[in-house]
Amino acid sequence: MIRTHYSGELSSHKGETVTIAGWVDNVKELPNFRFIVIRDRSGLMQVTVDKKKSPQEIEQSTRDLKLHDVIAVTGTVLDKQIAKIGPEVYPIMVKVLSKSVSPLPIDVTWSVETQLDTRLDWRVIDLRNPRNLAIITIEAKFMEGLEEYLRTNGFVQVSTPAILGGTSEGGSEVFKLDYFGKSAFLRQDPQLHRQLAIAGGIDKLYDLGPNWRAEASHTPRHLCEHRACAAEIGFIEDETDTERVEEAMVSHAIKKIQNDCKRELEILGKSDLHSPRIPFPELRFPEIYDILKEYGRDLPPDTDLNRESEEILARHVKEKTGSEFFFVNRFPFAAKPFYVMRVDEDPRWARSVDLIYKGLEVSSGGQRENRYDKLIAQIKEKGIDESGLEWFTKNFKYGVPPHGGFALGIERSVAQMLDIENIREVCLFPRTPERLEP
Ligand code: ATP
Ligand code: MG
Repeated sequence: MIRTHYSGELSSHKGETVTIAGWVDNVKELPNFRFIVIRDRSGLMQVTVDKKKSPQEIEQSTRDLKLHDVIAVTGTVLDKQIAKIGPEVYPIMVKVLSKSVSPLPIDVTWSVETQLDTRLDWRVIDLRNPRNLAIITIEAKFMEGLEEYLRTNGFVQVSTPAILGGTSEGGSEVFKLDYFGKSAFLRQDPQLHRQLAIAGGIDKLYDLGPNWRAEASHTPRHLCEHRACAAEIGFIEDETDTERVEEAMVSHAIKKIQNDCKRELEILGKSDLHSPRIPFPELRFPEIYDILKEYGRDLPPDTDLNRESEEILARHVKEKTGSEFFFVNRFPFAAKPFYVMRVDEDPRWARSVDLIYKGLEVSSGGQRENRYDKLIAQIKEKGIDESGLEWFTKNFKYGVPPHGGFALGIERSVAQMLDIENIREVCLFPRTPERLEP
């Protein structure tokens, strides 16, 4: 490897000879000195060329450096750091590894405002802005934290198929593809196969992977390809067991970010991020109608929450409990898919749970119907063709424990956590109705 140390490691290697590498972030010429600022993944550092004392080759090879040239520098880490931007290296050898054309197509420092769309056209260059790197690093830590919680609590990671023969939640939002002359679909959610894995005896499992939504929506909350951490749990008493797993998982992951991503949080001005108190508050239908009334709002019966009601309920919970998170439980069955479990005593309501974070839905789940006859009856009630789901339903004749779970959107959760307005900024290479590149 060319590099021996990242900039973030240099402070504990003072006086030693190291090789650093990265992109030229700035060059400052003074009569006797040339200061070259280099950026790597962990921050900035300065290479100080003493035009009189440094070897001739170094003065020459650094003379024409341009922004975003890629260079490696072998040198001594100065004992006394004078530079404000970071650790300082006195060069012994400089290698230019790759030249950059100048000027760059966008202003990576964001000091000149560039439209998000243009920045995404030049996503590779724009990723070099430390804020973008911080977002992606925090997102990685979030997934690591979610998985760490699940693994240490006995969940088995599974990979359910992305290509499906039938749709799980209705037609219009799925991408169709040609599968050896038959029509197939990209999954919207690994839901049904998670349930089948439970039926197969893997009774605590999770799947962290992509889902696809063919919705031509241009909201700042939707991507055509997003990732979810989807867990499924067998042998639950009821849907509140899934709430306990989800809140512990989320709070563990945020704690991990709080501990491991201090620098990234500081870059993003989010040093006050703290892991939420659990258990999260829960609101239930039909009481939700009364709460909304208090705020002068009516939600039509048998519909899902809309954006406005999510926001009002969030305000209500925040005022009453201080929590930025809360669950919504017992949605109207009419607004939910066929596989949810209804409340036997009052079947208008489903054991269906959403998690709301800062006023926006970040996950959906709840308890699933595991009783064959009820499942078939619900499919009929929803007017769905039973035969198309037989591959799924037939398994419920042969012993399936009560179970439930959730799918937590990764990009959406991180955008909420960091107060980033557009979800596209939280996705490495976002896919939207008009964007398939880069
Ligand atoms: P919404 O109503 O906000 O569009 P949904 O109810 O259709 O979401 P679910 O099917 O419940 O979404 O998916 C579970 C979670 O996955 C959502 O709560 C959200 O965090 C995330 N998610 C769903 N669709 C998208 C999308 N198009 N882009 C980004 N994240 C999504
Ligand atoms: Mg949902």
